[in-house]
This record gives sequence, structure tokens and C-alpha cells, in this order.
Amino acid sequence: TKLKVGLLFGGRSGEHEVSISSARAIAKALNAEQNANKYEILPFYIQKDGRWLAGDAPQQVLGSGKALLESENSPNSQTQTLERWQFPSQVAEVDVWFPILHGPNGEDGTIQGLLTLMQVPFVGSGVLGSALGMDKIAMKMAFEQAGLPQVKYKALTRAQIWSNPCVFPKLCDEIEATLGYPCFVKPANLGSSVGIAKVRSRSELETALDQAASYDRRIIVEAGVVAREVECAVLGNDQPQASVIGEITFDSDFYDYETKYTEGRADLVIPASLPDDISRKIQDMALQAFAAVDAAGLSRVDFFYVEATGEILINEINTLPGFTATSMYPQLWSHSGVAFPELVDRLVQLALERHSPAS
Ligand code: ADP
Ligand code: MG
Ligand code: MG
Repeated sequence: TKLKVGLLFGGRSGEHEVSISSARAIAKALNAEQNANKYEILPFYIQKDGRWLAGDAPQQVLGSGKALLESENSPNSQTQTLERWQFPSQVAEVDVWFPILHGPNGEDGTIQGLLTLMQVPFVGSGVLGSALGMDKIAMKMAFEQAGLPQVKYKALTRAQIWSNPCVFPKLCDEIEATLGYPCFVKPANLGSSVGIAKVRSRSELETALDQAASYDRRIIVEAGVVAREVECAVLGNDQPQASVIGEITFDSDFYDYETKYTEGRADLVIPASLPDDISRKIQDMALQAFAAVDAAGLSRVDFFYVEATGEILINEINTLPGFTATSMYPQLWSHSGVAFPELVDRLVQLALERHSPAS
């Protein structure tokens, strides 16, 4: 009998559409010849308001690639009557979950907590790894403990930015003195560059802090570096493997949302043209980062490579990286000898392995 894979996608996140694209690619891989006799897909689509849909609706979204608006729910469907805390009955049939949700409410440990309570294995990191991988402040603290080099930064809260107008100028003074310009202001818990600003002056800093505080309670400001952006894919649980290194090249000021998702604005170079010792060092650091946050299954680890000095700084780990056919993560593995359908198969097997009491 086939293993029922609960493909969980969409989600209450700014990366809802990316998740749909990733899920389409994964569904195709699970249906590929070498996997089709092993796995049966049970798709679950989480709408933008957080409601779960099973049955025809998720099939429709996978087919069209388009988000299904709350208002489009058919009035007499059973799912329509579900509350936000209720789940479709098909949930009970799932043997292993494949959550492919990017950003908050999916990549951050919330879904992972729910699936843990269900006591059903799932692909990817658990609660801790997901939460540490999402919050850029907690992530940097874990990396610091692991001895991984990174840019200078300052952690702030919304309360510090908004509630005390006397303290605010001092905060800005401190940022200017310790980080200088340009610096990057980021909401701590987003992805896809949403809400990130590169600032070059006091007035830009003030505006950016105010804006970032509207996205998140936690805000991070980082010193800007001029560097090449290189990425490494990690696959495995307790003995993970690192892929070849890839590089992102683009013309924009930085790798912002538009550059990420506009066709033709950015290129992936795989393998990146790097000296062998640098590539090896990046792979080593990627594995250390994976362990530092207690990641599992998969992660993409992103770095800044300062060519002039040979310095490698870790930027971030993404525990549920973009997974479309053209995304960096699967591309890095296909260049490392693991084709897309095999990659998806390995991830499901790693989920089962991690869940079994023996491991
Ligand atoms: P996200 O999780 O949204 O991808 P990142 O922290 O990776 O956020 O930042 C997005 C992009 O912004 C990076 O890929 C890079 O182009 C630019 N960037 C972010 N932080 C810095 C920094 N400290 N110095 C230089 N560029 C940065
Ligand atoms: Mg990220
Ligand atoms: Mg990034």
C-alpha cells in the first residue's frame, strides 16, 4: 500500500504564492514514475485567512497555480463551515506530512508544533529548528554561540522604537556609532526580503525603523557588507550532507523582493566560481549552522563572501527554502547528483527516520 503524503501548502504568510509554486513542483515529483508506486498525495491548502481546505479545492490550486480566495469557497462545501481551529477530516489519513509553507505561520515552528502534537512524522525541522531559523535575532545568537562569523548587528523591539520618543534618538545614535551606513533594517521574522530596507542616512534609518516595527515586534539592524551572495543546500538529519555552492547574481541594489520574484532579474550560478578551499569552508559552515539551530531534513544556508579579504560571513539559514523547479535548493542538489524526484523521496524518508523512536 502507498504511503499517504499530506502535502501542506499556501498559508497565512506573505509567501503564500511561492508556497503554491513549491507545492506544485513537489506534487509533480511525488507523481514521477520512480515515486508514484510508493506515495499517494493528499493535498491540504491553507487559505490566506488560515483555514484549511482538503479534497477538490487544493487539487484546483495545484492545477491552476493560483491562490483561492476565501470568497471563492463553494457555499455548500463542508470546509466552508470549519472554524480556524478545525481541520478537515482527511487529516486523519495522513501517514507523513510534507509542509511546504514559507515564512511566518509555517516555517517558524507553529505548524511543526501542531504536527508534533498529531504524532505524525513530517518533513523538515522541528519546533526549535524552525523557530530559530525564522527569527533573525535568535538565529544570530545561535550562530554566535557556534562561533560562526557574521555581520555586526543590533537587536531592537517595537516597544523601544515606538513607545519612548526620548529614547529613540539615542537608539539611532548608537546604531550610527556601532554599525554606520549603509545598514540594513529588517523585521526579525519575515522572509523573501519583505520589509527590509537598506538605509544610508539618519532620516532613512528613522523611517525604516518605524516601518519595520509595523511588520514585527522584533527588529534587527545589521551593518551592510559589500560581498558576493553564495548559498549551500543541506540535506539529512544527524549526519547531514552539504551540496555544491551556488551564487546569486543581480543588478539591483540588493536582493530585494522584486529582484527575487521578477523573471530575469536574478541569475543562479551553479556551481559558483570559487577557490576549492573557500567552497569547502562554506560547506563546513553550512553544516555547523544546520547543527547550531537544530535543523532537520533540509535547509539552505546563505552567506556573504567578501572576495577582497577572503572573509565568509553567514547571513541566514532557511529551514523551508523555495522549492520550485528553478529554486536554488533543488538546483543545488541536482548539480550535486540528487535529481528533484529523488530529493523529494529522500526528504520523506528522512522524516520517517527522524520520527522513529530508534533515531
Ligand atoms: P530574507 O530572509 O528576507 O531573505 P535576508 O537577511 O537574506 O532576508 O536579506 C535579504 C537580502 O538583503 C540579502 O540577500 C542581501 O542582498 C541583502 N542584505 C541583507 N543583509 C545584508 C547585509 N548585512 N549586508 C549586505 N546586504 C544585505
Ligand atoms: Mg530568509
Ligand atoms: Mg535571504
